[in-house]
Amino acid sequence: MTGLGLTQLPPPDDLGPEQVLLVHDRSAGLEAIVVVDNLALGPAIGGVRLARDVTALEVARLARAMTFKNAAAGLPHGGGKAGILADPALPGPDKERLVRAFAVAVRSLPGYVPGPDMGTDETCMAWIHDEIGRCVGLPRVLGGIPLDTIGATGFGLAVCAEALDDAGRLALRGATVAVQGFGAVGRHAARFLVERGAVIVGVADTSGALIDPDGLDVDRLIGWKATGKGLADLPGALPQTLDDLLRLPCDVWIPAARPDVFTVENVDAVRARVILPGANLPATAQAEQRLTARGALVVPDFVANAGGVICGAVEYHGGTESDAFDRIRDRIRANTLEMLARSEADDLTPRAAAERMARDRIKEARGYRRRF
Ligand code: NAD
Repeated sequence: MTGLGLTQLPPPDDLGPEQVLLVHDRSAGLEAIVVVDNLALGPAIGGVRLARDVTALEVARLARAMTFKNAAAGLPHGGGKAGILADPALPGPDKERLVRAFAVAVRSLPGYVPGPDMGTDETCMAWIHDEIGRCVGLPRVLGGIPLDTIGATGFGLAVCAEALDDAGRLALRGATVAVQGFGAVGRHAARFLVERGAVIVGVADTSGALIDPDGLDVDRLIGWKATGKGLADLPGALPQTLDDLLRLPCDVWIPAARPDVFTVENVDAVRARVILPGANLPATAQAEQRLTARGALVVPDFVANAGGVICGAVEYHGGTESDAFDRIRDRIRANTLEMLARSEADDLTPRAAAERMARDRIKEARGYRRRF
């Protein structure tokens, strides 16, 4: 079990983890970890990350992020996360065997509800459901709501931006926006923001960045990406680097690709006034402090990008696609406004205010748990 870096697991604190399951199944070639961080609000929903370099520490950090995200979103769910140490490009039958073996292993953790994450998709969720009858992110035919196809998380980001506008923290009509990552989250965020009057001035994927201060044609970019090509290959485009995107003067910068995009090394070059994270943990703690210190509004990731998990929870409780959109609109709007109000009233950073909001909900729910 050395591959997962178990010695890096942080010690438990007042929130969790409540359960940690290590799976080492030599016959199935399975090496995995599940961290059920906190169960006060209900069964822990959290994705299954399948990657060659996933670590115990990463899973523990993400499980904690899910505790805050689910609590802050007002969901009756705790937080958890799983990591399977494997190549996401495994041949189909091998991947199926591995994921089914994982499902059998987590049968003994009824408090954990698996969902899709990097390296797993709705087909993997269907295999897990077939084995243990418990997960979110299923194909439509099994009652799933395809959150990436409908753009649940990108929609939530746009709702969050709208709430910032209502609170006087952003003028959304005409606001200039840069988006790093043009996948399930980034492209839908761009589309929903344009619908609300914003102008997308920069986008990037792994092929490079496209920048136009007069505004990019988002529909054209989405159509181009649907052909399977990179943004930098767009005919007539003058591709730029991710550093150019990072330095771009704009109102809103949306990280929607990888964690730790903002570091102490690059953060002073960032010109945006609002950071609206689609990706989880997009800034190191120090980088976030520096952004906040120079007056940027860094919306906590677990407030801004909760659209996906809200959609998953609606699916888990038997709701429809339109229920999911309604719930995302209501919850993210209310949470953003409450976070801003608490931050002002208690003189806290947005992250500290949002964490306090989540902790208050967990504390209240804990009061109903058996103490004997
Ligand atoms: P995705 O795989 O669909 O898209 C990722 C995009 O990022 C791709 O366009 C890829 O080319 C681009 N990318 C990767 N590395 C890059 C780099 N170094 N520079 C520029 N672009 C890069 O993934 P997604 O579902 O859109 O998720 C994006 C992020 O948001 C992930 O960190 C994910 O964990 C997080 N997230 C996703 C959801 C969801 O609902 N899908 C919800 C919450 C958080």
